Amino acid sequence: MALARAMTMFALLVAGLLLLVPAPAFAAPGEGGGGAGENMGTVIGIDLGTTYSCVGVYRNGRVEIIANDQGNRITPSWVAFTDGGERLIGEAAKNQAAANPGRTIYDAKRLIGRRFDDAVVQRDMKLLPYAVVDRNGKPHVRVQVKDGDVREFSPEEVSAMVLAKMKETAEAYLGHKVTHAVVTVPAYFNDAQRRATKDAGVIAGLKVIRALNEPTAAAIAYGIDEKGDEKNVLVFDLGGGTFDVSVLTIDNGVFEVLATNGDTHLGGEDFDQRVMDYFIKLIKRRHGRDISGDARALGKLRRECERAKRALSNQHQVRVEVEALFDGLDFSEQLTRARFEELNADLFQKTMVPVKKAMADAGLSKADIDEIVLVGGSTRIPKVQQLLKDYFNGKEPNRGVNPDEAVAYGAAVQASILGGHVDENHKDVTVLDVVPITLGLETVGGVMTKLVPRNTVVPTKKTQVFTTYQDRQTTVSIKVFQGERSMTKDNNLLGKFDLSGIPPAPKGTPQIEVTFEVDASGILHVKAADKGTGKSEKITVTSEELRLTPEEIDRMVREADEFAEEDRKVRERVDARNKVESYVYQIKSAVDGSKMADKMEAEEKEKVEEAVREANEWLDGNLDAEAEDYDEKLKELEDVCNPIISAVYQRSGGGAREDSNEEDDHDEL
Ligand code: AMP
Repeated sequence: MALARAMTMFALLVAGLLLLVPAPAFAAPGEGGGGAGENMGTVIGIDLGTTYSCVGVYRNGRVEIIANDQGNRITPSWVAFTDGGERLIGEAAKNQAAANPGRTIYDAKRLIGRRFDDAVVQRDMKLLPYAVVDRNGKPHVRVQVKDGDVREFSPEEVSAMVLAKMKETAEAYLGHKVTHAVVTVPAYFNDAQRRATKDAGVIAGLKVIRALNEPTAAAIAYGIDEKGDEKNVLVFDLGGGTFDVSVLTIDNGVFEVLATNGDTHLGGEDFDQRVMDYFIKLIKRRHGRDISGDARALGKLRRECERAKRALSNQHQVRVEVEALFDGLDFSEQLTRARFEELNADLFQKTMVPVKKAMADAGLSKADIDEIVLVGGSTRIPKVQQLLKDYFNGKEPNRGVNPDEAVAYGAAVQASILGGHVDENHKDVTVLDVVPITLGLETVGGVMTKLVPRNTVVPTKKTQVFTTYQDRQTTVSIKVFQGERSMTKDNNLLGKFDLSGIPPAPKGTPQIEVTFEVDASGILHVKAADKGTGKSEKITVTSEELRLTPEEIDRMVREADEFAEEDRKVRERVDARNKVESYVYQIKSAVDGSKMADKMEAEEKEKVEEAVREANEWLDGNLDAEAEDYDEKLKELEDVCNPIISAVYQRSGGGAREDSNEEDDHDEL
C-alpha cells in the first residue's frame, strides 16, 4: 500500500465513522445455497470427519448411507502415497500407515482454515508423524509423492481427496455423476474454517451448497426439529480423536447453538491406546520383551485392540489374538469389559466435564434438556452411555440411528431439501441456523455499532447508512467486528477495508450504505457503497491470508485432476499386468496336464512353454511397466499361443474349448 494512502487511512481510522441514518434493517429469507432454479441433480450429504467420513443420500422416502468399495459405511479420512507412486484414500491408506508413517496423512480437519501460528496447529503438528510446514502463513503438509517429487498440500487439498472419495462412493452407488453436496462442520468452526471446507469441495469437483453444523445434522437425523414445541437438545459427539458437546435449542425449524464445549484430543483412539499400554506391559512381564519400539508389532496390536474394544460394546469379554506378534510368538489374551472400563475410567469420567461446562454456558439445568443425541462411534461404549444417563438423572438418549452415521444422515435429509426433492415425510423440515455472535462495525470513538444481532436466523441481509466524520473526507474505513460488547476494543476484529474516491464534501453529507449479508453457511459478506457515486467495495469476511485465492483453487483443481489421472493410470497398469498374468496362468495350466495338453504335439508344447517361461521372466523384471508394455507383451504371447491353441482345438473337434482363454475375461477375485 502506498505510504500516502496508508497515512490517509490512519487518519480515517482514528476518525472512524459517524452513524447518520439508521435505515430499517431488513431480512432476506430464502435459500442461500445453490441458487434458485439451479439444477443440482442428486445432492448428497457428507460428514467430513476428523478420523472417519460418511456419505448419505435421501432416496425413495428414506436416507441411505452408502457403503464404499470395501463395503464399509464409514471411510477413514486418510490419504497416503506409496513407493509405487500410488495415492491411497480411506481404508487402503489407514491400513498401511504403520509401515509408511511419513507419507500417510490424516487429521487434516485439525489444520483446515487455520493459520500456521495458530496454537492448535502448533500443538497438533508435534503429534503428527508427517511434516507440516509454513507456506504463506498457512499450514501445509509436505510429503514425498514419488521418488524425488516432494509436494506441499494445503489441508483443503487433503480434505478434497477424502471428499472426492466420498463423491465417487455416491456416484458408484447412484450410477450417475454428483455435483452438489451438503458438508457438515463442527458448530465451533469459524468463518475461515467453513470457507476452507467449501474450497475443499470445489477442488473435489463438488459445490458445497451448505456447510451444516454437525450437531444440527444429528438432531435432524432424529427428526427432533419436527416434534412441535421448542426443544433443548444436548448433542454428545465422541468420535475417534475428538469430543464435542453442543447444546442447541430448536424452535420451528430454527436451530440455535447455545453453547459448545469439548476436548479436541479425546476419543476412541485414546481408549485403544490404554488397552495397548496394558498389553505392552503384560508382554514385558510375561515374555521379557518390549515391543514399544516395534512399529509393525504395534500396528498389528493396535488393530486388534480396536476390534476388541468394539466387541466389548456388545459382549462382556473378548479374546485378543495376534498371530506372530513378534519373534513368531502368537499372542492371545482375554480382555473383559470390566478391565476395559477400569483402564479407561478416568477418560470416560473426563467426558462429563465439557457436558457440565456446556450446560452452564447455555444457562440450562439438567431438567431443561428435552433430548439427548449420541454421535460418534465411541458413544456405543456402554459405560459412556451410562455416565451420561446418570448425569441426566436417568434420561435415555435417542436411539435408532447409528451414532457414526447420524451426522451424514441429517446432512442427507438437508441435502434433499436444498436440492428441491422435498419428500412427504420431511416437508416441514426447514432447517435454519442462526448467527451465534453479534456482527457489527466500528463507528466514531471505537463504538461497536451492531448490524446483525446474535441469534438472527440466516441467511440474512442488513443495511444501514453511514456518513463521514470530517470535512472533505474521501475515504472511509470499514472495520468489521464480532462480539457482544459495546466497544470494539473488547470485541473480535474480523476484517477491514476502505471505500475511497468519495467526492470531497462537508462532513455528514455523503451517504455510505453498508450491507452485511450472512449466507446460509454462516459466511459474512460486507459491502459499502457511496450512494452519491455508486462506487462500492466489498469483502467476504475471513482472515484474508487464510483464504485460497481463485488462482490457488484453480491450480488445486488441476492438481486433483492430475492425481485422478495418475490413479487411473495406476489402475490401468495393474489391470494390464493382471491380464498378462492370468493369460500366462491359463496357458500354463492348459499345457500342464489338461485334456488339451494330451492333444498337443511336442513341438507345439515346447513353443508354448518357452513363450510362457519368457513371459514370466519378463513379468518378474518389469514390476512397474506401463499399461502399453503389458498390453504389448500380452499380444506377443497371444500371437505365439493362440494359433497353437486354436489348431489343437480344431484338431480335437472343439473338445478342448474349456481350456481356452477367450470366454473367460471376468475380473479375478
Ligand atoms: P467416528 O469418528 O465418530 O466414526 O468414531 C470412530 C471411533 O469410534 C473409533 O475410535 C472407533 O474405534 C470407535 N467405535 C466404533 N464402533 C465402536 C463400538 N462398537 N464400540 C466402541 N467404540 C467404537
